[in-house]
Amino acid sequence: VSSAAEKFDFFYLVQQWPGSFCDTRQGCCFPDTGKPAADFGIHGLWPNYAKCGRGRQEELASAVLGEDDVAFFSSVGRRGKCWPEYCDDGNALSPWEIRDLVASLDRDWPTLSCKSGRSFEFWSYEWKKHGTCSNLAQHEYFARALALKARHNLTAILAGAGIVPSDTETYPLSSVRDAIAQGTGFTANLECNRDADGNAQLFQVYQCVDREGKKLIDCPLSMPTKCSRDQVKLPLF
Ligand code: 5GP
Ligand code: 5GP
Repeated sequence: VSSAAEKFDFFYLVQQWPGSFCDTRQGCCFPDTGKPAADFGIHGLWPNYAKCGRGRQEELASAVLGEDDVAFFSSVGRRGKCWPEYCDDGNALSPWEIRDLVASLDRDWPTLSCKSGRSFEFWSYEWKKHGTCSNLAQHEYFARALALKARHNLTAILAGAGIVPSDTETYPLSSVRDAIAQGTGFTANLECNRDADGNAQLFQVYQCVDREGKKLIDCPLSMPTKCSRDQVKLPLF
């Protein structure tokens, strides 16, 4: 399976707002490199199918096994499989391969989870789950995610529209959506979460990216929205 080209349609570049990760009831921890900047951080670059359906693993399995066994072997929900994942468990992320990117990754892809404080573990997890399905080499995968983030600076784009981090202000979700569309040229999907007091806040931004991981594209139709609030906060970090 590892040598076969994965069939997927586009990537999501997913970025998280650190203030919204940290002020939840669950909380957060800073990585061993110190408190990250008050800037969006990369969560991952995720291969996706434009339509949920049968994935490559199921196709291979059904060829070998027969239809009934496939359901048993795959983790497909009722909507079908919406993305490939864990395409090559033997392909672990190598620190050597990405050594020239580590300073940038520490800045732009820091972990906020309290599990280990080592961002490398976050990068390794994302590589294993999503990167191994990307048809990109390790260095390419991380370099392209970094380049996309740098090219479209979400924090600056929002600030340019008057959407600045604040613990008191709320912003219309439509103004966030419009600012990103104006600033990047493409619509993004927005995800909200709640702070410890239950206030809705902007948590993650999903931008659609071409199969090479090089440029933003219009998102394929029918992506369920991940934020149904009219007003959201962008909390301080
Ligand atoms: P959650 O259920 O918290 O939204 O997502 C859990 C995990 O499932 C994510 O971290 C990600 O690895 C995967 N995931 C969720 N939504 C998507 C998606 O739309 N595309 C892909 N490729 N993975 C997703
Ligand atoms: P996904 O949601 O991509 O499947 O899972 C993300 C995994 O990476 C989770 O197991 C989570 O604990 C870990 N992780 C480490 N650092 C971070 C972080 O800063 N943000 C998020 N969302 N997950 C992180």
